[in-house]
Amino acid sequence: MPLSPEEFYAHALETADAEGRMPQSRMAAWSTAPFENDGLHVVPLRSPELPEPPRNGEGGQSCRNCTEEMEGVVWENSDWRLAVPGPASGAPLILILFPKGHFDLSTLPDDLASEMGRLIVHTAGAIEALPHIARSHVARYGDGGAHLHVFFFARPEGFAQFRGTWFAVWDDLLPPVPEAIRNDDARAVGRAIERSFGGHAVACE
Ligand SMILES: [Zn+2]
Repeated sequence: MPLSPEEFYAHALETADAEGRMPQSRMAAWSTAPFENDGLHVVPLRSPELPEPPRNGEGGQSCRNCTEEMEGVVWENSDWRLAVPGPASGAPLILILFPKGHFDLSTLPDDLASEMGRLIVHTAGAIEALPHIARSHVARYGDGGAHLHVFFFARPEGFAQFRGTWFAVWDDLLPPVPEAIRNDDARAVGRAIERSFGGHAVACE
């Protein structure tokens, strides 16, 4: 049986100092880490909060994805939308895949789950076919919103330092890429998915 929140907290504090700070992590020593270890401190671990605060779209809150018009859509079909998340950021391109219906990952019907698997492959393929993009990282967290959203992070070619998990942090540290180039790349991915998978590319501004 998994540890209860209180047991997990007690277990974690076994390695922490009097303020609840754990020692430096293995990841901080990776060659891909964006921070130098000198002067870096782990924040104190907070005690568990139960029940957890609701995510957007649950606990009586309306779902933003179901009630507001989505901006930045670059491709859609009858069941899915693929969109840029807002202004450009440090990664050359970030895209998010949403079902049109209100489902989380664990409640997605089997037919949509099958389609999502193929869409993830086609989207990653279209991103990796862009010039100067080495990899499409794919992630589902689901801790902010109850409406399923799958992230694609385009990792630029030539930067072994951006390999792996830390790239989401590098995205935040790097200056935003030019918006027009980001949008051109997003539109190219939409057109590529229309060709290879179907649905419709949408011209985002
Ligand atoms: Zn929703």
